[in-house]
Amino acid sequence: MTLSTQHIKTDFLVAGGGLAGVCAALAAARNGLNVVLVQNRSVLGGNASSEIRMHIVGADAHGQKPGARETGIIEEIRLLDAAENPQRSASVFDMLLYTLVAAESGITLLLDTDVVGTEVTTAADGSRHLVAAHAERQSTEDAFVIEAKFFADCTGDGRLGVEAGADFTEGREARSEFDEPLARDERDPQRLGSSMMFMARDQGRPMPFKAPAWARKFSTEDFQGHRDVHSYEYGYWWFEWGGQLDTLKDDDCIRRECRAIALGVWDYVKNSGAHPDAANWALDWVAPITGKRESRRFLGPLVITEHDVGRAETSADTVAYGGWPMDLHPPSGVDANPEPACVQHWFPHLFSIPFGALHSRNVGNLLFAGRNMSATHVAFAATRVMGTCAVMGQAIGTAAAQLVGQGSARCAEVDLPSLRRQLVRDDCFLPGYRNEDPLDLARQAVASADGAAAPVETVLDGVTRDQRAVWGPWADEEKHAWQAAAPQGTLTLTWTQPVALREIRIIFDSGLARELILSGSDKASAKTLRTPMPECVRHYRLRLDGELIAEVTDNLQRQCVHQLPEPRNVGKLTLECVVTHGGGAPRVFEIRAYG
Ligand SMILES: Cc1cc2nc3c(=O)[nH]c(=O)nc-3n(C[C@H](O)[C@H](O)[C@H](O)COP(=O)(O)OP(=O)(O)OC[C@H]3O[C@@H](n4cnc5c(N)ncnc54)[C@H](O)[C@@H]3O)c2cc1C
Repeated sequence: MTLSTQHIKTDFLVAGGGLAGVCAALAAARNGLNVVLVQNRSVLGGNASSEIRMHIVGADAHGQKPGARETGIIEEIRLLDAAENPQRSASVFDMLLYTLVAAESGITLLLDTDVVGTEVTTAADGSRHLVAAHAERQSTEDAFVIEAKFFADCTGDGRLGVEAGADFTEGREARSEFDEPLARDERDPQRLGSSMMFMARDQGRPMPFKAPAWARKFSTEDFQGHRDVHSYEYGYWWFEWGGQLDTLKDDDCIRRECRAIALGVWDYVKNSGAHPDAANWALDWVAPITGKRESRRFLGPLVITEHDVGRAETSADTVAYGGWPMDLHPPSGVDANPEPACVQHWFPHLFSIPFGALHSRNVGNLLFAGRNMSATHVAFAATRVMGTCAVMGQAIGTAAAQLVGQGSARCAEVDLPSLRRQLVRDDCFLPGYRNEDPLDLARQAVASADGAAAPVETVLDGVTRDQRAVWGPWADEEKHAWQAAAPQGTLTLTWTQPVALREIRIIFDSGLARELILSGSDKASAKTLRTPMPECVRHYRLRLDGELIAEVTDNLQRQCVHQLPEPRNVGKLTLECVVTHGGGAPRVFEIRAYG
């Protein structure tokens, strides 16, 4: 045996470093856990990484539901990326994720490391408990045995959970199973297919292209039903193929065919005569691996169905949300032509994701998030986008921290009111949820402001974004931010009796109504900004009873947290907003204060 084995003990093991896994690991570490994040590739980000380059969309449905953008960790990532990566570099995005993870001393990151096995105990009633995961890093000839209290499978393919014997399903359910109108008459094993993206650049001079012998041949008739060749810099999600096969076992064959399709489409662009304006364009990058849309889906105590996605109601177990349409594709992708490349079943509201769809029904300490969550094929078609995967990830990471903190051994023991309170404290948005945290001392204060253009009480109304009534019965059309009357403004909280403060949390406006996306597509990028958000307060001062305790001159985040070295009795808190990035009047959604 060449591999040398290392034993690691941790609180929480996260397998898979896509957006779901990264957010789970960050949330858990920031809430006090020791975490091991195991990612089998050299970079973080999964389908959003430089290897695959899918742009992250989410509840705002590519800007069609303005204001619904996810907050929390994914907003922090998007705001950082927009400000620090104006050049739209996929590799810089990889580095950004790496930097965020590296900043957490509680996270041990194992890159190029595959989870390959588990140790499990089984109770008399058949329920299982994960004790350890086995992982291997072939590049260093290392094996790892990682013992943890809780585990998260964010691998997309579900390898960790499958090794542990977690119940899962694959393919498309029959209508009889969940009575879903969009389901098929009979269950079948087919899934959404995979795609291999490319990028090209205008070189300013004619660039001939000779296709390799293995490339497919396409003609104009092959490009119907949303298979548009509209620009050349970033192509094309509909290069899809392989959902009619096993996207796990047949992945190598699917990769070969997707490559032949990608180069075949480029051959069509360059040499069919249908796109003369592509004469100066040349391939700049072809993905080394396919982006995989669908493989296994775990079964939790709850399975999200088309009915849940189609509903705007929210409930006491909601820990995440989505808004992307049910976006179904024919499994054989390009070969299904002229059947459309996708049919998007649209709805105006936001849907809720309950905690019961994010943990296993038969492995007590296994959480999951991302594309392998507990959902039917039809519901998964809406939950699978990466903004939604990211907020699920933050939910399970926060849940793990709570479970470990209270000494629980099973996910089912989570205290949902306190989990939801913590998620919202960390700036997640839960539909219909209003901050009523009894520990938030700001709620005992009176807010006042100099010359406000919008009522100042809104900073204490518990709602941290402006909403649209179409999002659900819980949503209003009110404004929920205080807005200064001038480019500078001061906001004050006053307590009748001094309170002992240790932490202050501020939520600034970060322009949620604007789509914020890192995309290879010029068209998608034209709708976004690659700068700090102009609404966001750049320079502010925080005073306690007149004394300056913080001055920040380069803020670009929506949520800003200030911790004092020790509790301090305070009668008055003053936030002086000096200037926003765009020079307009500052807006503040919320101020919280904790002892
Ligand atoms: C072509 C294509 C187009 C899409 N279009 C969009 C879009 O425009 N916008 C959008 O938001 N979403 C889009 N999606 C969907 C989205 O990309 C996925 O649903 C999403 O990436 C799922 O996130 P995740 O974190 O669950 O999994 P992934 O992004 O798949 O990340 C999982 C990670 O785990 C790693 N892993 C797997 N097995 C192991 C193991 N045994 N040990 C350790 N690590 C492991 C994988 O290598 C991967 O890096 C698209 C998907 C595809 C394929």
